[in-house]
Amino acid sequence: MPDSTPAPVYLDHAATSPVRDEVLEAMLPFFGPRFGNPSSTHRWGREARVALDEARERVAGTLGARADEICFTSCGTEGDNMAVLGVWHARRLGGRNAVVASAIEHKAVLGAIHCAAREGAVERLVSANSDGVVDLDAAAESIRDDVAVCSVMWVNNETGVVQPMEGIAEVAKSAGAVFHTDAVQAFGKVDVNASRQPYDLLTVSGHKIGAPKGIGALFIRRGTKLEPLMHGGSQDRGRRPGTENVAFAVGLARAMELASSEREGESTRLRALRDALEAAILQRLPDAVIHGRAVERAAHVSNVSVPGAESEALLMGLDLQGIAASGGSACQSGSIGASHVLEAMGVAPEVARCAVRFSLGPLSTPDLVERTATALAAVAARARAVAGVMA
Ligand code: PLP
Repeated sequence: MPDSTPAPVYLDHAATSPVRDEVLEAMLPFFGPRFGNPSSTHRWGREARVALDEARERVAGTLGARADEICFTSCGTEGDNMAVLGVWHARRLGGRNAVVASAIEHKAVLGAIHCAAREGAVERLVSANSDGVVDLDAAAESIRDDVAVCSVMWVNNETGVVQPMEGIAEVAKSAGAVFHTDAVQAFGKVDVNASRQPYDLLTVSGHKIGAPKGIGALFIRRGTKLEPLMHGGSQDRGRRPGTENVAFAVGLARAMELASSEREGESTRLRALRDALEAAILQRLPDAVIHGRAVERAAHVSNVSVPGAESEALLMGLDLQGIAASGGSACQSGSIGASHVLEAMGVAPEVARCAVRFSLGPLSTPDLVERTATALAAVAARARAVAGVMA
């Protein structure tokens, strides 16, 4: 009997994406014969050093940066923490005792901001409007000359909404604040070029773009002072001690090059799929709410609320049909609470509780559109019926 089970549909690329074959291939020699420690002076060490330096150059190339402005990290969370806390620690004794972020940041930034507040910083969070765009005027009000560091993401991970990052960076600059942007969901989706754009620090994460989990990079513009989070050897100019992960750095460089060169074509492809998915959902569920739909969004994210059908029921029902989505940011899945992003946008709690995030990427093909929309409608009808019975 032929297997009639439809192929699974992975719509959680914003949580993580598979490692690309080209990336794995580039990394493999460093798990084998090229295993040296870049700090060693013998030939194995020198070979590893060359590979690491080359990887740094290539990562810098994709960011329009210089090699000495790239610090390898273990993930986006580390980059965000290093940027926020590193700058706060470097500047807090200089009369700048405030830290600013938007209310819709990823928990990696919000957690670091809250940590600075526990250490004595004045914390200011800037609101977003109902479309999920950070308010530029509110940002300007919060970014005063007491601000050590300001962090506003480029693309929101829950809605895909593109933020007025450059405008806020300019405001921060004129107030003498160091400006960081979390570009974890932006790299490979928008045009990133540090030589033309005004941020001081920028975070990327490898596993969102086809590199493995366990590697990321922080761009640190020359002249930006920050304290390391860890203490030890002098690796990475003392900014991040510890033996460098050469294999993963090489993999990140390859993934970033591929993501950069494919950005425009892939964005066009994903945007067409995403728009078709949203149209198919609205056809079946006309009262569905697509958050941020009226404003500029990166192509890979669609955040949909189906009023009356709670996220948890939707996600479980979709999963049973072989469709993987999420309830918001990945670290919240497994414990689906109301999203702080939708809350900051002023979405009514009963609508926010019914949100599902679909995120597209390399595994996304046109067949996902009908399958996902049909499954969502069926699952939503069941969830609504159960909710009606329970009411
Ligand atoms: N920032 C954003 C916007 C993200 O979407 C994520 C991951 O979902 C992170 C930071 C954290 O990245 P990582 O999982 O590499 O720690």
